[in-house]
Amino acid sequence: DLPIVAIIGRPNVGKSSLFNLLIGERKSIVDETEGVTRDINMELIQTEYGAFYLYDTAGFLKEGDKFNSLVQKKVKEAIEKTDIILFMVDGRNLHPMDKEIASFLHEQEKEVWVIANKLDNPDMEVLAYEFYTLGFKEIIPFSVVHKRGYATLKEKIEIWA
Ligand code: GDP
Ligand code: MG
Repeated sequence: DLPIVAIIGRPNVGKSSLFNLLIGERKSIVDETEGVTRDINMELIQTEYGAFYLYDTAGFLKEGDKFNSLVQKKVKEAIEKTDIILFMVDGRNLHPMDKEIASFLHEQEKEVWVIANKLDNPDMEVLAYEFYTLGFKEIIPFSVVHKRGYATLKEKIEIWA
């Protein structure tokens, strides 16, 4: 069985943007309107070192909703099968929903890497440190728009896969 990598996070942090970046084409809908991705998007990724499945899990969370009440069965099952969770946050601000998602993910005993997105320039990278309070060891400062952190992430996934 090929490893599964899933992108998890609250709405509008850039999950679909990261999915598209990693698969190398625009397949997942990126929209200014929150909660646009309705289903789980899945793609097989081939690399020099091996292959893995990538999930974009979006759409199951709306702003203001309690995380636990909204994790659909489908998404829970997807998380259960997942080997690596890319927990995406808006690196500019720690949001209360990030903490709810974090406590849920801590219960899963999975490999979790925090992707602190939207850190569009090098000066902003320090903002990522705040996310260590979520209790995960791996934090990758990231910007999908500027492909910042992209090489690091790809390499980490390839080593793992
Ligand atoms: P999702 O709801 O988590 O799937 O988020 P989307 O991928 O749909 O992106 C939400 C919004 O964030 C869109 O307007 C994106 O253009 C924007 N966005 C995504 N990545 C970045 C980034 O690295 N920097 C900035 N400034 N905006 C981003
Ligand atoms: Mg999306």
